Amino acid sequence: MQTHFLPTRELVEKLQTRTLSCGELTGIYLERIEQVDSQLHSYLSVDPETAKAQADLADAQLGEKKPEAPPAPLLGVPIAIKDNICTVDSKTTCASKILENYTSPYSATVVEKLRNAGAVLLGKVNLDEFAMGSSTENSAFGVTSNPWNREHVPGGSSGGSAAAVAGGLASVALGSDTGGSIRQPAAFCGVVGLKPTYGRVSRYGLGAFASSLDQIGPLSRDVYGAAAVLQAISGHDPLDSTSLREPVPDYLKTLDQPLAGLRLGFIEEWLAEGVEDCVKQSVTQSVDLFRNLGAEIVPIRLPHSPYCVATYYIIAPSEASSNLSRYDGVHYGYRAKEYASLNDMYRKSRGEGFGSEVKRRIMLGCYALSSGYYDAYYLKAQKVRRLVQQDYLDAFKKVDLLIGPVTPAPAFKKGELVDDPLAMYLADIFTIGANLAGIPAMSIPCGFSENGLPLGVQLLGPTLGEEKLLRAARMFEQEKPWHDNVPTI
Ligand code: GLN
Repeated sequence: MQTHFLPTRELVEKLQTRTLSCGELTGIYLERIEQVDSQLHSYLSVDPETAKAQADLADAQLGEKKPEAPPAPLLGVPIAIKDNICTVDSKTTCASKILENYTSPYSATVVEKLRNAGAVLLGKVNLDEFAMGSSTENSAFGVTSNPWNREHVPGGSSGGSAAAVAGGLASVALGSDTGGSIRQPAAFCGVVGLKPTYGRVSRYGLGAFASSLDQIGPLSRDVYGAAAVLQAISGHDPLDSTSLREPVPDYLKTLDQPLAGLRLGFIEEWLAEGVEDCVKQSVTQSVDLFRNLGAEIVPIRLPHSPYCVATYYIIAPSEASSNLSRYDGVHYGYRAKEYASLNDMYRKSRGEGFGSEVKRRIMLGCYALSSGYYDAYYLKAQKVRRLVQQDYLDAFKKVDLLIGPVTPAPAFKKGELVDDPLAMYLADIFTIGANLAGIPAMSIPCGFSENGLPLGVQLLGPTLGEEKLLRAARMFEQEKPWHDNVPTI
C-alpha cells in the first residue's frame, strides 16, 4: 500500500524503527496535498515550512536513542487541524468571512499538547462555518469533496478533517463535535472518528459554537491513530474550567486487549423507517460480528431519542447566539467598510461577515432565549436534555457499550440538502444524543454501500468510557480491517 494510505500504527512503527524518517513522511504528505487537494479542497491553509521544521526536530529526537524512555507515539506523525482550533502561527478562520484574516494570539491547549508530543502540524482544514452544518457546504471558502466520490459531500462539520485523512493527505486529524461533527464525516468518508466525554479534552482555543456540547477529538485511518491522539490531547487544563480532573489512562497500552464478557446494547429501534437499507444491513452485520467475537447482545431502548433533534436545535443555537455575539467588528476580524453609526457598524459587519446558516442559528437562538419564549423553548429543552441523559444512564446500568447507526444514509450529493435545512438537521438524529448526554461515542468503518460509499457504525460508551470504546473498536477492526480499502485518488 502507498505510504500515505498506511494506517497510523504502521507509520509509527516505520518512524520508530527508522525505516522512514519524519522528514520523508512529512514530504510525502506535503507533496500529496500539492498534487490532489485541488480535487478535494480539504485544506484551507498549509504551512510547509513549520511542518518541515517540526519533522526535523522529531527526527533529531528519534535519533537520540534512549531505550529507557521510548519515544512518544505521535512523534513525527503528520496531523491536520480543523480550522476552528487556534494556532498561533497560522490563520484560524472558522471557515467564516468574519475571521478571514484572523490569527490567534495563542494556540489551543490541544495544539500545544500535540506539539509537545512531537506531532507534525501540516495545516488547517475546512469545515462548515463555525462548525454549523453537516456537509462542509456552509464554509465561506468553498466546499470539500468526498474522496470516495467527488460529487458527494464529505459530511460535516469536520468535513475537511475526514476528507484529508480518507484521501491520504494527513495521517490523523483533529475535529470538533457538537452534535456529530466528528462521527458523521468519519462515517461518510470511511475513517475512525471519536467524540470524547464532555470535559475529557480541553476546549481552550476552540472557536465556541455551543459550549455545553462542544468537544475536540481525533479522526484517523485506524483505531490506533485515534487512541494515540486522544492520549496526547486529554487531561485537565486550568484554562478550561469544564475540563475534568480525572487521570488519563494509557489508551495504547490496553488497546489490543479484547474485552472479555462484553455486554453490548443494540439500539435496534434506530434502524427504523427512514433509514436506508445499506445502513440497516451494515449495522446488523456489525452486531453479528460482535456476537461472534463473544459479546452478549442486549436490546436497549432509549425512549427519549425521538426528541433529541428538537432539543439540540434549541440548545445549540441558543448557546451559539450568545457565543457569536463576540464577533462585533471591534474585538475580532471583519469590519464593514462604510457605516453611519456604531450600531450601523455592528449590523453591517455581522450582516456581511456571517453566512446564512450562521445567521439562521443566531436568529433561532435569540428567539428561544427571548423573554416570553425562554420557558417554552430553552428551559423546556434543558429538561428534555436531562431525560435524554437519564436514558443513557439507565442503559449503562445494563450494558458496557451501545451500538447503532451513525447516520440514516451514506454521504449525500453536493447540493442535495443545502436548501432544506430541516432535512439536514433531521439527519443528525443518531449523533446528537451523545452530545446532550456528554458521553463518548465513535464511528468506525463497517462497509460500503452498493455505489461504493463508505458506511460507519456507532459505538457509544458511558462517561469516561473511552478505553472500552477503543478496545471494542479495535476488536472490530482486527476482524474487519476496512481501512485496507482506499479511494482512487
Ligand atoms: N450537524 C450539526 C449542526 O449542524 C452538528 C454540528 C457539530 O457537531 N459541530 O449543528
